[in-house]
Amino acid sequence: MDNPLVTAFEGPFGIAPFAKIEDAHFAPAFEAALAAARARVAEIAADPGEPTFANVIEALELSEALLEQVGGVFWNLAGADTNPARQQLERALAPKLAAYSTEVTMNERLWSRISALWAARESLGLGPEQMRVLTLYHRRFRRAGAALEGADRQRMAEVMERLSVLSTRFSQNVLADERDWTMALQPEDLAGLPDFVVASAKAAAEERGRVGHLLTLSRSLIVPFLQFSPRRDLRESAYRAWVARGENGGETDNRAVAAEILSLREERARLLGYASFAAYKLEPEMAGKPEAVRDLLMRVWTPAKEKAEADQAVLTAMMQADGINGPLEPWDWRYYSEKRRKAEYDLDEAELKPYLGLEAMIRAAFDCAYRLFGLDFRPLDLPLYHPDARAWEVTRGGEHVAVFIGDFFARASKRSGAWMSDFRGQKKLGGAVRPIIVNVCNFAKPAAGEAALLSYDDARTLFHEFGHALHGMLSDVTYPTVAGTSVARDFVELPSQLYEHWLEVPEVLEAHARHAATGAPIPKALLDRLMAAQTYDQGFATVEYIASALVDLAFHEGAAPADPMVRQAEVLGALGMPHAIRMRHATPHFAHVFSGDGYSAGYYSYMWSEVMDADAFDAFREAGDAFDPAVAARLQRFVLSAGGSQDPASLYRAFRGRMPGVEPLLRGRGLLVA
Ligand SMILES: [Zn+2]
Repeated sequence: MDNPLVTAFEGPFGIAPFAKIEDAHFAPAFEAALAAARARVAEIAADPGEPTFANVIEALELSEALLEQVGGVFWNLAGADTNPARQQLERALAPKLAAYSTEVTMNERLWSRISALWAARESLGLGPEQMRVLTLYHRRFRRAGAALEGADRQRMAEVMERLSVLSTRFSQNVLADERDWTMALQPEDLAGLPDFVVASAKAAAEERGRVGHLLTLSRSLIVPFLQFSPRRDLRESAYRAWVARGENGGETDNRAVAAEILSLREERARLLGYASFAAYKLEPEMAGKPEAVRDLLMRVWTPAKEKAEADQAVLTAMMQADGINGPLEPWDWRYYSEKRRKAEYDLDEAELKPYLGLEAMIRAAFDCAYRLFGLDFRPLDLPLYHPDARAWEVTRGGEHVAVFIGDFFARASKRSGAWMSDFRGQKKLGGAVRPIIVNVCNFAKPAAGEAALLSYDDARTLFHEFGHALHGMLSDVTYPTVAGTSVARDFVELPSQLYEHWLEVPEVLEAHARHAATGAPIPKALLDRLMAAQTYDQGFATVEYIASALVDLAFHEGAAPADPMVRQAEVLGALGMPHAIRMRHATPHFAHVFSGDGYSAGYYSYMWSEVMDADAFDAFREAGDAFDPAVAARLQRFVLSAGGSQDPASLYRAFRGRMPGVEPLLRGRGLLVA
């Protein structure tokens, strides 16, 4: 078969020949690409010559070229424009790719060549980026267990297998508890609920073949119910059921599952030579050590708790004015907070929306990139994978920088959420390649002939993903392993969250937010109310989040707790939680931490990134100009172009002259009382 996926892409800018690619091409292309990668890795491992940086590391960097070309097309289509054939192939590929990856990291000859280079690293004459790449390879193999032998290797395989069973069970138990609880709402119970909540409760009943209205524990239904229902008794029952997920006794109880997961993680870390699972997890992150995480969280905790306690007093007074005595309870917070928000910060989304046209917000994002980094955007007329996707050539001073693809509208074939990804990454090794970057969003598609309008959250998402896109497009490194967004998890959200700040620079919306029908600029009063609403109830949000992050950290430091619920109670007791606030996710349903490894000893990273983006934007504030050229040049050089070519803390220090401070975040969240 003549397969367009396995020959070089020769069209303009190296964009894939989408018109020629059929679904039937993917499976054989992956087979060919995997076979080519395996053959190449075998050659590299069996090389009879002395190991050198070139014949081991550089060779490995280029060994998966075809797999990257095929995967670059397939994984983008699987997310943005899937169909049953693509879904089936996705399922079939997952175990094959996992097996290949284990084969590589467990290849003993390859490991011995990498360790030999590592041992001799000081005498190899490597440049800083090469040293970083060697460090990353050595670390990746070691962390995967390449150095384990005999019984330890065997035990590690057992631990990993058991962990995968337990994490699946943990998720399924939470789902079962969520599914099993419902509360029928009588017509009089619907009082005070907005139309969208009533409609969701009706849909929930219909879905279960019932008539009337049902409350379920789905976050999108229970949270608005707690916010709007004046029925304190119903709020209490619903809240108690919501926080008891995974803690109801019987088969779906997650407390013993969590305890076993924590103990196996500790064993895994010790087998690999780490003092604790937290030490293992944090090693490749910017935070580096558990102490750094705790220190940062505690610096935010104290002012957040003070703000939450002040808010608790206000809300308690509101409740007492309703004739209810006693303390404000957790099932009261959202209800009184919503009443207060309406009184003090009411913002009518419908009034705002006509000013936030999609085209205007794209222009705003491009315009900021021009003012900061001198980037120009020229629409390209190229056939892409879907008619809604659009492409631009990105240039600077007439020189090609990247191709940017924007795929903005929701459709049934697209995964939910928003993301940045690439069809092709940047590199210089083996010939210079400029990147092809894509942003995918799920904005509502307007009727034919009408303009697409965004909510403020949508506009923020657009800027967020465009920040990731800049990280990919401005990448300027030699080795693919460290290109673009290939950085530590607690560093990767810096460019994206930072870019959101330019949407809040008044002159940006003043210039670009024009009324869709009249062309009038956004009224100043509306803009002010919009900005004030951004910091509302951040005491509550910060306290519930930090409590969860500190419990997560405590679970993974030192010896695993015999009873996680006791450890959780100790941590919360020491913090002195405000009475009406609980953890955002309690242990028996803390999926970030127990349904897989992703955010275990890592739940902190959301706030870590936010501290950094606030501190980074503050550099522009200090310079007195949101587009200060010197600060923008440093941002580009040390963050947006540098990828993972140095460790993240060094990059941040090079940009900012110091490590991030928490004060800009506290100011941004309205937690610094002047
Ligand atoms: Zn992001």
